[in-house]
Amino acid sequence: MRDFRSAAARGVTPYVCGEQPTDRAYIKLNANENAYPPSPRVAEAVAAEVSRLQYYPDMTSAALRGAIAAAHGVRPEQVYVGNGSDEVLAFTFLAFFAGERLSAPDLTYSFYPCYAKLFDVDYREVPLRQDFTVDVDGLEASGGGVIFANPNAPTSLELGQDAVRALALRLSEQDRLLVVDEAYAAFGEGTAIPLTQELDNVLVVRTLSKAHALAGLRAGYAIGCEALIGALQGVKDSVNSYPVDRIAAAAAQAAVEDEAYLRRTVSMICRTRDETARRLRALGMTVLPSRTNFLFATHPRVQARALLAALRADGILVRHFQRPRLENFLRITVGTDEQMDRVVDSLARALGAQ
Ligand SMILES: *Cc1c(COP(=O)(O)O)cnc(C)c1O
Repeated sequence: MRDFRSAAARGVTPYVCGEQPTDRAYIKLNANENAYPPSPRVAEAVAAEVSRLQYYPDMTSAALRGAIAAAHGVRPEQVYVGNGSDEVLAFTFLAFFAGERLSAPDLTYSFYPCYAKLFDVDYREVPLRQDFTVDVDGLEASGGGVIFANPNAPTSLELGQDAVRALALRLSEQDRLLVVDEAYAAFGEGTAIPLTQELDNVLVVRTLSKAHALAGLRAGYAIGCEALIGALQGVKDSVNSYPVDRIAAAAAQAAVEDEAYLRRTVSMICRTRDETARRLRALGMTVLPSRTNFLFATHPRVQARALLAALRADGILVRHFQRPRLENFLRITVGTDEQMDRVVDSLARALGAQ
């Protein structure tokens, strides 16, 4: 048969997400999903919205954008919403970087290179420093727009806002765009959102999949100056003029508005994270100082693959990346205290047996 695919389709290397095997019940700590269910207000909002499903959703997602704007102290015109931040990121690549140069750390969210291929981006990878921190000067020197995740994945490390701000200012002087993917910022210390009020070259992308526990819903957003948001909107409206559906908009709004629940669950996860890191270090593992809802850990002598297999045999899934520099690490999502007890027990057994 003739290969009917376009050059763009032939060029893509699809992103591979954490596996979801069904051969048995697993403790699933391989996709950085939230340890807890979403706010109970989400269920109420969804139930109420079902009776309105015969109507198309609001094209402007005004209520959801208003809630997000209020949560971050920005204007609704500075908020773009989409079907998961993956889609927001895809439209970001299309709107700002198609055919242009874009620089990113070599070890970061592995979806960026996929979008880069699909949209013919001149994508430059700048190696993380030896200690896995982001090479800010290298990104500036590499040219074009800049994107990175902060805190970064899979390293779990957060770049301080002083460094983010300094980079944003230098890029601003050169008329270059900075995109900060803050999927994990709720578990960290800072945010670049205030920068978007001051500079017109900063776009912050957020998701409701992690801290808001809505990975199954698909909702994400971007915050930036009105011109950037308008550019995203223009590209999106050329593909699908309806943004998130009614259920997603209602659920996302309820989750964003329940700030007390967000704070409570995030602080529980951070407490479990720090305690688990302490216990893994006591087992002789090296654990990077995480500002996310996952731990990036390695053992100086025992191969990550052996630990991965031991965890799996005990019914626990974690993420492993077959890439130079990453291949001896495990990325372990922070679950509940009970789940992390199982992880620590399993690793203690595996390490004791070495
Ligand atoms: C999880 C994650 C996303 C994707 O979030 P969705 O909203 O579920 O598409 C984006 N960026 C990073 C760095 C992530 O870890």
